Amino acid sequence: MPSRSARRLLVLFAVIALALPAARARAASPAATTSRAFSEAQLAQARQLRERALADDRAYELLRSLTSQVGPRPAGSAGDARAVAWALERMRALGFANVHAEPVTVPHWVRGECSVETVSPWPQRLAAEALGGSIATPDGGIEADVVAVTNLDEMAQGDSTRFAGRIVFFSGRMERARDGSGYGRAVTVRGRGAIEAARRGALAVVIRSVGTDRNRLPHTGAMRYDPAFTRIPAVAISNPDADLLQDQLATGRTVRMRVRNTSRMADSTQSANVIGEIPGREKPGEVVVLGAHLDSWDLGTGAHDDGAGVAIMTAAARLIGDAPQRPRRTIRVVLFANEEFGLSGARAYAQVHASEAARHVFGMESDLGAFLPLGLRSRVTPEYLPAIHAMHSLLVPLGVEYRGNDASGDADVGQLVPLGVPVCDLDTDASDYFDLHHTANDTFDKVDPLLIRRNVACYAVLAWLAADLEGGLGRALQAPAR
Ligand code: ZN
Ligand code: ZN
Repeated sequence: MPSRSARRLLVLFAVIALALPAARARAASPAATTSRAFSEAQLAQARQLRERALADDRAYELLRSLTSQVGPRPAGSAGDARAVAWALERMRALGFANVHAEPVTVPHWVRGECSVETVSPWPQRLAAEALGGSIATPDGGIEADVVAVTNLDEMAQGDSTRFAGRIVFFSGRMERARDGSGYGRAVTVRGRGAIEAARRGALAVVIRSVGTDRNRLPHTGAMRYDPAFTRIPAVAISNPDADLLQDQLATGRTVRMRVRNTSRMADSTQSANVIGEIPGREKPGEVVVLGAHLDSWDLGTGAHDDGAGVAIMTAAARLIGDAPQRPRRTIRVVLFANEEFGLSGARAYAQVHASEAARHVFGMESDLGAFLPLGLRSRVTPEYLPAIHAMHSLLVPLGVEYRGNDASGDADVGQLVPLGVPVCDLDTDASDYFDLHHTANDTFDKVDPLLIRRNVACYAVLAWLAADLEGGLGRALQAPAR
């Protein structure tokens, strides 16, 4: 580790060590903490917002509208443009202020037809879809023998020549977990599999879907290329089809496969971040950002990912705007363009608004589905932890536990953390999320109206308190240098 990084790490530890006993002492007395950070009137309004949210179906109805009237909205598609128009129209109809679109250039990948079949010794058609960004195969497809590896670690071991001229099958299975942690471990083959296979001479990549279900529905998602290596097609097969392929391979016979795909990259095009505000009563120039991504993959209607986030954040902001007292600062809903295929909207927002980063006092993002909220994480400097604990205390009746000061801000709002914007993450129960994620099954019927209300309640409470807190929440604790 470079000495500068080591020093920063030591300073960070020292700061935390000094602050921890005080924070612990304050946390031991929630009542005292609460009264110090917020007035009784502020807390009363937060409780009222929480109870209203738990009886309000606005988010659910917004999601019904987005999924049924816009539907799939991958970056650059006609659905993407319709989603931007939908969001502008809805925010205006709901009485948001300063409703506008900020242009974002997005890549435009177009799905074609995809087929995967074993041709010998036992011919079978497998349920498959291209990964987002994949190039096409030649017209007649690619036919070659299959070589299987579990994951990238296994690929890096042993004879590296065994992949040349083959179709590589990544067989590793994603584990189901309440915190969704299986996703991070499994998704590396989706992102980098084609790069690592191509550098070893492979012709195409087939992955076991990054998902936890047993439906014959492939999970799509972004994949990448490295200009240093040949670009090869990359597709996902469903979990049952991956099981079948493994059973064929386990006999020891050579399995020959044909992969055909007609997807392609089109020219980059224009999309937009859509923004609407509930203006603050004292410091309208200072903002709390509530973020979600407006784009989705194309196989389903993007209900949980991330139509739910769009609906939850819009409804939470509207509830705050409808309360008797507006917060001191502005609540800004930002519906980001193209999270799925490269974070275009979040990067554009961070760039365009970098000079006003100091006036972004807090941020949150909803992008883990409309499931039961279970945990709250923060990322603030230690002196602001008492305020966070006071904010959290209002979520305790909803069963949300405090999980630590290691929030990321998630994919989009996380781009603001290096600019110093403090954030919170609300962890949902992600046990079932990856049954649906990026599949044709991510549709409105999978969303529970009572659980979407609970998400709105959490974000409304946190956003109101953060926006009304007299001194703000300081700047984000920066991660130790790596
Ligand atoms: Zn998402
Ligand atoms: Zn996604």
